[in-house]
Amino acid sequence: MLRIDNYLRASSLAEAYDTLTSVPGSVVLGGCGYLRLGRRRIRTAIDLSQLPLEGIAESAGTVEIGAMTTLRTIETHPLTGSLWGGVLPRALRAIVGVQLRGCVTIGGTVAGRYPFSDPLTALVALDATVQLHHQGPVALSEYLAARGAPDIVEKIMLPRDGRLAAFASVRRSATDFAVLNVAVARCADGFRLVVGSRPGRAMRAVLAEASLNQHGLDRRTAIEAGRLVAEELAFGDNARASGAYRRAICPVLVERALTEVLHAA
Ligand SMILES: Cc1cc2nc3c(=O)[nH]c(=O)nc-3n(C[C@H](O)[C@H](O)[C@H](O)COP(=O)(O)OP(=O)(O)OC[C@H]3O[C@@H](n4cnc5c(N)ncnc54)[C@H](O)[C@@H]3O)c2cc1C
Repeated sequence: MLRIDNYLRASSLAEAYDTLTSVPGSVVLGGCGYLRLGRRRIRTAIDLSQLPLEGIAESAGTVEIGAMTTLRTIETHPLTGSLWGGVLPRALRAIVGVQLRGCVTIGGTVAGRYPFSDPLTALVALDATVQLHHQGPVALSEYLAARGAPDIVEKIMLPRDGRLAAFASVRRSATDFAVLNVAVARCADGFRLVVGSRPGRAMRAVLAEASLNQHGLDRRTAIEAGRLVAEELAFGDNARASGAYRRAICPVLVERALTEVLHAA
């Protein structure tokens, strides 16, 4: 059960950040989907829902998604549906159900740094940047690799650069966490090959990317890239699958996602 002693509806980001960093035991609330799963006591809950942190907007070649935007809004928004080969809606569709996706937020998803996350894998392939209130902009891949000081996620920024991307995952049942998820993107400066739920956090396979950049994408190199990704990244065991199983299915998912990009191009 979740127990909250004090509740603050923040009237500014500065107030939220000051409380988070000065009041021991304070916690920022996103959609509370994950927070409420645990048994914990929150001394001060900081509610961001009154701040202008919700919505999807475009400016100067960048798409910005506010931290309090729900996954369902991202899934159904015309902009995210039409960009990047529709990879974001694809990565969100299997998360439990519409009701949950209508509550949980992209800010909570990013701040949680969940290793099993589907959208985080897609966002790394899109070279997302996280805008933090105190620290400023940080590349999502760096943010995921660190356990930084407490901060508030304000928004996610994505380049509107015409890249083509695709997502694939394997699940034991339709709405379970992914056993493995993969996102790939073809950008002007090369490929992104990202694997999450390994069960570690989403990570780029940079050596496999370099090989694909060198040889170009076709049926043969898509298969070879899958093999190289599985060789390069670490895979482990958890309740859903063994590391050996993950390593075995990784090439298939990478090849499928790359083939989608190949056909879309
Ligand atoms: C039952 C269940 C099943 C799920 N299955 C999947 C799945 O299959 N695939 C998948 O990808 N995801 C899955 N998720 C995760 C979900 O998609 C969200 O990523 C998760 O719920 C966090 O979002 P939230 O809005 O609920 O965050 P919360 O639970 O409110 O917060 C999560 C963490 O982020 C912090 N936080 C929230 N907002 C901010 C902010 N703006 N700035 C700084 N810190 C912040 C909180 O303090 C907390 O530590 C599942 C979640 C649940 C509850």
